[in-house]
Amino acid sequence: MSENSNNTKIVAKKAKAYEIKVLQRFARAKKLLVLDLDHTLLHDKWEEFVPEQRPFLHQFLAKVAKSFNLMIWSDSPLDRIWSVLEELGMDSNKDYGIKAILCRKAVVNIKSEGAWVRCKPLSIIWNKYPFFGPQNTIIVDDIEENFFLNKKSGVLIKEFRAGMKKDVELLKLGKYLVKIARRSSFENIDHTKWESN
Ligand SMILES: [Mg+2]
Repeated sequence: MSENSNNTKIVAKKAKAYEIKVLQRFARAKKLLVLDLDHTLLHDKWEEFVPEQRPFLHQFLAKVAKSFNLMIWSDSPLDRIWSVLEELGMDSNKDYGIKAILCRKAVVNIKSEGAWVRCKPLSIIWNKYPFFGPQNTIIVDDIEENFFLNKKSGVLIKEFRAGMKKDVELLKLGKYLVKIARRSSFENIDHTKWESN
């Protein structure tokens, strides 16, 4: 079997088996924003009790929630994702709501040219919620490999590390996302140059 058809099989199987944790109803009129946690929205240092949030975190989420349904997809266990959201107050902010969560069990390992690639295939979401698709979905991550199967939907963000007090990535990203949210489709947008937009 070719790598491609084998990968398609792996993803289809995962899409069938994995249960997305839905917390709130999706707003059909809004688009979909899938956000990574670690080094995208925060840095969790093992020696600290509470993770350090990226500057402008809540401001960013409140801003983009007006145009997007927000999902968190982290390559960690579900119980850790819950506690991080709780610790940072992302589970109870009155200015935005997290609509759904995907955990490490939804991440797949596929093969490309003989090498293993670990990634977050958006078709796991799209298969279950067909009103979302490449036309209205963005995935944001600090690791490019995570959108290996959805290169055109991926927005790569600079890695955040604790102590980066002057980091303004989320401010810039919020502006970019609100701007493109007005488009009827995302399919012809080149996100590789998002920072100069
Ligand atoms: Mg990350």
